Amino acid sequence: MRACRFWVAFLLVMTSAAFSQSAASSKPGPGFSVDNIDKSVDPCVDFYQYACGNWIKNSEIPADRPAWQSFSELNESNLEVERKILEKAESGGAGRNPIDQKIGDLYGSCMDEKAVDAKGITPLKPELERIAAVKDKGALIEEIAHIHLIGPNPLFNFYSNSDLHNADQVIAYVDQGGLSLPDRDYYVKDDADKVEMRKHLADYATQLFTLAGQTPQQAASSAQTVLVVETLLAANSMERTKRRDPKNRDHKMTRDEAVAMAPEFYLNRYFDAAGTPNFKELNVTNPDFFKQVNGVIAALPLESLKTYVTWHVLRGAAPWLSQPFVDANFKMRQALTGQKQNQDRWKRCVDLVDGSLGEALGQRYVEATFGVEGKQRMLKMVAALEKSLDEDIQGLSWMSDDTKKQAKVKLMAIRNKIGYPDQYRDYSLILIKRDDLMGNVERANEFESKRQIAKIDKPLDRKEWGMTPPEVNAYYSGSYNEIVFPAGILQPPFFDKSMDDAVNFGGIGLVIGHELTHGFDDQGRKFDPTGNLRDWWTEQDGKEFEKRVNCVADEYSNFVAVDNMKLNGRLTLGENTADNGGARVALAALEHMIADDKSGKEGQSIDGYTPEQRFFLGFGRVWCEKQRPEYLRMQVSTNPHSPGKYRVNGVVQNMPEFQKAWNCKAGQPMVAENACRVW
Ligand SMILES: [Zn+2]
Repeated sequence: MRACRFWVAFLLVMTSAAFSQSAASSKPGPGFSVDNIDKSVDPCVDFYQYACGNWIKNSEIPADRPAWQSFSELNESNLEVERKILEKAESGGAGRNPIDQKIGDLYGSCMDEKAVDAKGITPLKPELERIAAVKDKGALIEEIAHIHLIGPNPLFNFYSNSDLHNADQVIAYVDQGGLSLPDRDYYVKDDADKVEMRKHLADYATQLFTLAGQTPQQAASSAQTVLVVETLLAANSMERTKRRDPKNRDHKMTRDEAVAMAPEFYLNRYFDAAGTPNFKELNVTNPDFFKQVNGVIAALPLESLKTYVTWHVLRGAAPWLSQPFVDANFKMRQALTGQKQNQDRWKRCVDLVDGSLGEALGQRYVEATFGVEGKQRMLKMVAALEKSLDEDIQGLSWMSDDTKKQAKVKLMAIRNKIGYPDQYRDYSLILIKRDDLMGNVERANEFESKRQIAKIDKPLDRKEWGMTPPEVNAYYSGSYNEIVFPAGILQPPFFDKSMDDAVNFGGIGLVIGHELTHGFDDQGRKFDPTGNLRDWWTEQDGKEFEKRVNCVADEYSNFVAVDNMKLNGRLTLGENTADNGGARVALAALEHMIADDKSGKEGQSIDGYTPEQRFFLGFGRVWCEKQRPEYLRMQVSTNPHSPGKYRVNGVVQNMPEFQKAWNCKAGQPMVAENACRVW
């Protein structure tokens, strides 16, 4: 069981080991440069191509990456910084402080490939034997509780989160889950790419069962069982787009009601085995899933369910077992992402430490990289963006004064976190051994699961962070009503101390505006200033809002991502709304700054571009990217963010400010006939 991320990130939440690069790739520098511009393109015809054309021409996707983006280089330099920290911590020996012992020995146990290979599947044997020994379905549920604690997530998800109607209080949640492919659609749809991935999954499962000791025939039959079970779970899972509406995930009930609704889940036995406090109420996010899967559990033989659970334990462990397991695991990822080769082991090991002991590694990362100056400049920009969004809201012609007043209260209540947490998480209870990679992974997962469980029926800790300091990302959380910017994103191309304000407002300024706007997108607008799911809109204003977001949804649904696959305008609605609103308020904040600058320096052109043009170029530059077609296909099905090209062109074609800055004429592609505007 891991923390459930209900917040909205600026970028795709990168899964561990999904991203990496080879050092050998040739590519332009990470910061803003006019060299990236393709001047043969008319900015009013395709602004993305204009801003990124030369960057795209001069960049290659490294063999071990599914994509290469402007900020990939930043991820890469972060990995190098973390590697140095970890190598130093590892070599420190007996006199090290406890933080360095933990991060150093976890990294060391992961890097010791020889020891890992020599052990083969042995480190996982105790877990496999536990499952094999299970005699009935009630005992299997208790076993699943144990497995959830140490990492893998078969059958369903269990976590803690704030109560949707009382955000200050944390409660228990049970949720749909238990799938291996990235989305339910992969099991229930017959598009060519989905059918192909089911085949890859069957191959992958066959391979792992064979490696675990089954005959090829048995293994193939076990793999089919896995597909059957997961297809039944998928068929009863809610679509991603529907899950975007928090009202569809709002089903608080008593523990007794939940237990009675799905008796085959033996939830009381599950909660006891997981060691939860004795809570009385919980949120069953998707009751239909539990009702329907209850019948699935009843109908399936115990042995089939055990095979399915074994599979999840095998696939969860595969990246940390011997080479044949690692290779099989990579082959599946390759099918999904198009990545040509696995990333170097040290990068996978850095990712493991970041995912397991993130705030301990993060503490060292911050000491090595983050200055006070960055935080001060960020605070100033956040204040400027908040002011700008406030003016934007107050100036809306379609919103009544009542709703505007409420919106202002919410905006003023948004907290911000910048750089790193005030207090780092205490990992002292996790035992990390230099010679026990699998055990380390399980103990770190168990520590995190128990930390999440311990929050149930306690007040929400508003100081907690949902990302680690090195992450190149940012987020808005509705229940916390806060915007968060880890130290990792406060670097070029997002934030460059050596650059003019125009470029930085197009970069990190837009990210700040984007996160603030999330508080008022199709999801965020449903939460009040304290983070409760409560409607603070007048009925008429709500209708006006829906009309405007429908325009955005229709607009983006027409963009072609790859082959004949168009974007899902509903899935990406919140992000597109935030991109559009963020660009508008960031530019407005820049205009204020130019107007207030008595020296006239802010208003000057640089490299032949006006501040407004540099703002848009800085924005475009952030999204320069190349993606493999396999990866793009997966993105369209699962990622709430649009591809870079449309994060740029979709926004600028809606902005009269853009058209003015670049002298675009009506009828040109970057001048939308029906421009959409929410914020
Ligand atoms: Zn976002």
